[in-house]
Amino acid sequence: MAVQTVAGNTTSSAPAVDLGPAAALSCRECGERFELGPLFACASCFGPLEVAYDLPTGSPEELRKRIEAGPDNIWRYAPLLPVPADVAEKPNLNPGFTKLVKADNLARELGVTGGLYVKDDSGNPTHSFKDRVVAIAVEAARAFGFTTLSCSSTGNLAGAVGAAAARAGLRSCVFIPHDLEQGKVVMAAVYGGDLVGIEGNYDDVNRFCSELIGDPLGEGWGFVNVNLRPYYGEGSKTLAYEICEQLGWRLPDQIVIPIASGSQLTKIDKGFQELIKLGLVEDRPYKIFGAQAEGCSPVSAAFKAGHDVVRPQKPNTIAKSLAIGNPADGPYVLDIARRTGGAVEDVTDEQVVDAIKLLARTEGIFGETAGGVTLGVTKKLVEAGVIDPALTTVVLNTGDGLKTLDAVSATSQATATIKPSLDAFRAAGLVAN
Ligand SMILES: *Cc1c(COP(=O)(O)O)cnc(C)c1O
Repeated sequence: MAVQTVAGNTTSSAPAVDLGPAAALSCRECGERFELGPLFACASCFGPLEVAYDLPTGSPEELRKRIEAGPDNIWRYAPLLPVPADVAEKPNLNPGFTKLVKADNLARELGVTGGLYVKDDSGNPTHSFKDRVVAIAVEAARAFGFTTLSCSSTGNLAGAVGAAAARAGLRSCVFIPHDLEQGKVVMAAVYGGDLVGIEGNYDDVNRFCSELIGDPLGEGWGFVNVNLRPYYGEGSKTLAYEICEQLGWRLPDQIVIPIASGSQLTKIDKGFQELIKLGLVEDRPYKIFGAQAEGCSPVSAAFKAGHDVVRPQKPNTIAKSLAIGNPADGPYVLDIARRTGGAVEDVTDEQVVDAIKLLARTEGIFGETAGGVTLGVTKKLVEAGVIDPALTTVVLNTGDGLKTLDAVSATSQATATIKPSLDAFRAAGLVAN
């Protein structure tokens, strides 16, 4: 089939840029295909575009061996990503292959017997899962000749873009809501690019960036989550690949994923489907659960009401990295949760804080508020009998608690402050045993 550009004025059969197995962009709504380029909406129906592939042929055993012999980062999956074959040799942050922690203490506390795992993405270079998506977007930016890397961000993305641009030798200019946590602001600024605070919430920032793309002011700019969004999204597939490989090339039975725009959740499902298609894992049912904070729960509200459309909300929650009131992938998240027999649920800010401390206390992992949302929802759904405790369950921790200290600082302080004497220590009543 001929491939058209968005303008519809040229046709060719081979992509003009080398992004490895990526063959074209295709519309998720009407299926129309477009040549690889910095496009994000279908010229015919305005549906979102996604990357379509010529996936590797050959035996699953060969592919599995090739992956296992690759580097200890996301580039081991380069044959399944929109990146050139020599991607690992270019200057980039090499994120991924983070720990999958078997969380036995947490499992005991929650009453989960079928195996509970925490996929801990706080171990990425800028301490959140965003390094995965940005690494892929950087390759697209290079391929399309962009010299400035940009984004609208709830915090973590700004830091990931700043760091990746610094390593890749690109300029960066990133946009955030003005009132983010200090840890996120400093992480976004320290890499030396421009950081702009916008007086408004994330949805205002995103709207502003869409305007900037259409203006001469934004010419030559690659916005990782706007005009490079189809490529950016593919980075989240690596979470699906890693989890399955780390489980011994097996799908988890249940997985709990936080939702901001919903991109991550939809692409983890895409990753599982590709592994099944390629014969890398056995085709068996899995359930996908989505997690939101009550103060920003448009997808959860739609799920519970049985709606197909997501009604936008004005966010008010401590889980700022997830505070997107009008999530672009909301309807697709609903589809996936319903198709797989999963659910979308939300928890209060108080439950978020309790869950951050539960994970820290049981497993020695300090997650950010998004991790608290995800574990909080996991706990709620186990208690409600929606998550089956006898099945293998994976919970994502997508960010680092050091960036959201305010969430726990009031209740995480020194047990006692004393004079440096044994008498004072004895008087403090801390019996050593
Ligand atoms: C961005 C982000 C997410 C979710 O992102 P999506 O927009 O749903 O893909 C989850 N956790 C953290 C910590 C994030 O920064």
